[in-house]
Amino acid sequence: MQVYKNYIDGEWADAASGKTLDVINPATREVIARVPDSGPADVDRAVKAARRAFDQDGWPQTPARDRGRILFRIAEYIRRTAGRLAEIETTNNGKPLAEAQGDVSDAGNCFEYYGGLATKIHGDVLTVPDNAMALTLKEPVGVAGQIVPWNYPLMMAMQKVAPALAAGCACVLKPASQTPLSVMELTKGIEECGVPRGVFNVVNGTGGNVGMPLVAHPGVDKIAFTGSSEVGRLIMREASATVKRVSLELGGKSPNIFFADADFEQAIEGALFGVFLNQGEVCSAGSRVLVQEPIYRKLLDAMVEKTKEIKIGPGLAPDTKMGPLVSQDQYDKVLSYIEIGKKEAKLAVGGGRPKDLPKENERGFFVEPTIFYDVDNRARIAREEIFGPVMSVIPFDKEEDACRIANDTPFGLAAAVWTRDIFKALRTVRNLRAGIVWVNHMQPAPVEAPWGGYKQSGFGRELGPHGLDEYLEVKHVYINLDDRPIGWYK
Ligand code: NAD
Repeated sequence: MQVYKNYIDGEWADAASGKTLDVINPATREVIARVPDSGPADVDRAVKAARRAFDQDGWPQTPARDRGRILFRIAEYIRRTAGRLAEIETTNNGKPLAEAQGDVSDAGNCFEYYGGLATKIHGDVLTVPDNAMALTLKEPVGVAGQIVPWNYPLMMAMQKVAPALAAGCACVLKPASQTPLSVMELTKGIEECGVPRGVFNVVNGTGGNVGMPLVAHPGVDKIAFTGSSEVGRLIMREASATVKRVSLELGGKSPNIFFADADFEQAIEGALFGVFLNQGEVCSAGSRVLVQEPIYRKLLDAMVEKTKEIKIGPGLAPDTKMGPLVSQDQYDKVLSYIEIGKKEAKLAVGGGRPKDLPKENERGFFVEPTIFYDVDNRARIAREEIFGPVMSVIPFDKEEDACRIANDTPFGLAAAVWTRDIFKALRTVRNLRAGIVWVNHMQPAPVEAPWGGYKQSGFGRELGPHGLDEYLEVKHVYINLDDRPIGWYK
């Protein structure tokens, strides 16, 4: 069994307490590794190392092109070790290997993209009154605390680390305690690629023992958090004591809207992929499928037939389309929502644990892809984030009904609209209150374009140029061009 350590100030270290946490394979429940069960003392060491790297050792002053080159080296390292990283991601998270390979590839893309952007950070010259000139300088925010969830363990972490390093920030990263392994493996490479000591630190442990102390630490300038809305609220409150910059990527209950004129074959696949990808453990899962009346029954029937063909199994098996959920907690939570759904709506397919699992996977956290239909948008399964393979199908009549139902949610992360009418597509895009809207697709998230929510799905953006801005402060420099006295005494 692998035993990992924290990575603090360029060294591998156990938790100060010596305690460890078990890490499991959710397809079998077998313990596959241990990581430090760290606490406030470990967080403090990491933050102090990051502070020194930022304040004294010259990381922010390192020429941007040299920082960029380090990021390119990390991207290369990811490509070189992609096979192993993807296998580790699947073994620890449960997702199908092909999806893990996509995630690892995106982590590499992320370092390449921000490596290139490092040399393009620039301010502006502004027109101001009087004989003066104003400049803006973009400067790194400082020490960033980064807290990530378990659904895209490597990608969520690296879409925070890459822009932070490009900007000249130092970081302290906390992986999710359920899924730390891909980050720990990549950390070996980050060390090898020449990131100076103290610039990048990883502290493992629980939210209460590591996450909260990181948020409260006065040496941290910014917290980037991805996770549940519930924890996001706690973080926002705690961060206010030291007025930290905060970016929050939270939950969703995203509408996937199908107009009657959508391409029918594309629609079936788009609806299933939109919600069953990654076992439905996707913040932007299209968990509310809104279907226009003329195709409602036909699309529902077609989705049910295709859902029966979805192959469930261990993520490493080549034909698996859906792996296990990540943990016992998540498994219990999803099954309890399915029971709620059975009382609130009609069950079309799924609704429990799959049969015929391989013997070694009988104890794994597998749940069938499940479709409820004739769902009222006020039902709990349509309002609350389930974060599992559960689709709620909701009928609608007119275009304005689709937008009203779609927007009737506290969340605003993502939405998708399927139609062959460009006018209707663009009107709908404009009327939806969400940070990402796809037209005739759902889920692509290229690293070059921003990602983030409206409403209670959070604020701030990751990826794209906006993701870099989150790690930059703007300094205004006012330059007087007049060498005469100011004239205050007159
Ligand atoms: P979570 O909020 O339970 O945990 C996320 C991270 O926060 C973990 O590292 C956890 O250890 C830590 N944490 C927990 N309690 C904490 C506390 N009190 N203080 C500080 N840190 C704490 O979320 P999860 O269950 O790991 O992930 C699922 C959630 O993440 C879903 O709600 C999902 O929608 C959301 N998510 C959002 C996005 C997005 O981009 N908007 C992406 C992925 C996941």
